[in-house]
Amino acid sequence: MSDRRSFLKFSVLTSALLASGKNLFAHSHGEPKITIPSSKDSPIVISTWDFGKAANAAAWEVLKRNGRALDAVETGVKIPEADPTNQSVGLGGRPDRDGHVTLDACIMDEKGNCGSVACLEHIVHPISVARNVMENTKHVMLVGEGALQFALANGFHKENLLTAKSEQEWKEWLKESKYEPHKNIENEPYRKGKDGKAGDKNNHDTIGMVALDANGDLSGACTTSGMAYKMRGRVGDSPIIGAGLFVDNEVGAATSTGVGEEVIRIVGSHLVVELMRQGLNPEQACKKAVERIAARSTPEKLKDTQVGFLALNKKGEFGGFALQTGFSFAVKNGNEEKVYEAKSLFN
Ligand code: ASP
Repeated sequence: MSDRRSFLKFSVLTSALLASGKNLFAHSHGEPKITIPSSKDSPIVISTWDFGKAANAAAWEVLKRNGRALDAVETGVKIPEADPTNQSVGLGGRPDRDGHVTLDACIMDEKGNCGSVACLEHIVHPISVARNVMENTKHVMLVGEGALQFALANGFHKENLLTAKSEQEWKEWLKESKYEPHKNIENEPYRKGKDGKAGDKNNHDTIGMVALDANGDLSGACTTSGMAYKMRGRVGDSPIIGAGLFVDNEVGAATSTGVGEEVIRIVGSHLVVELMRQGLNPEQACKKAVERIAARSTPEKLKDTQVGFLALNKKGEFGGFALQTGFSFAVKNGNEEKVYEAKSLFN
């Protein structure tokens, strides 16, 4: 896991002001309204967490040659999927409580086509299997053994995804066997050790990526190994179209990270897109979805729960919002390559 604090803490507001040189404040309902810089003249790709930066760079190679957003997001998320040091996505992901690395992924294009795999084992690139499901079957979702069978029949190779590090940590975990999601909060001991290096107890994350191409089309991809030490067979929000990812080419696209159960309960990414349809900007839409989660619970019950949403609209405006501090997202377009720290409901 890379160090999320290594990024420069640009605030969205400061960047907006710098980018436009305009007065971006308009007051509505007594709250300052923030206009995020528009990227409508350029393709753009955004993705969750600071490790999204490397993924965005790969996606950008596709977008800058006027490639399709769908190809860009698949290419992009394959970077963390193949990275054995990233313990929350693909190869090297933390296993379930029984020691199996099980992967969830989905993809959606500008026409509303979508494909998904859940609880898939032994395949480094679940996102490409999901794309295969979308393009070469009449179905949207394949799970478990059936998904593996489909992958193998379509040229994917079986590999051991459990790295020595993840296996050793799982064996440590087995001593207490306590299922306990850790929220992704900076300044917590598990986020950063005294030596300034990233802590090793952060135990879930996802790469969710959405992009707008030069043609003005949107697509998205989402891939994860899910919550560490989850029950065997557990599936989170990430492969669920509407929860972990949603794309509507008329309006925008959204994706999520964090405790998937909370996101599924509000069908989070679909909600964010629908809120943008009603006129909210991406950050406002993400915030409303987070508030929906909070309204169903209490700050006390949610104190160890992180959820972050990330959204991009048809104009190329972007924004994110999280339940807790510590959620970052990476942005790449013709003008900038940055990691932003999202605002949050709780501090
Ligand atoms: N959303 C993922 C899941 O619930 C985990 C994460 O993004 O932190 O499986």
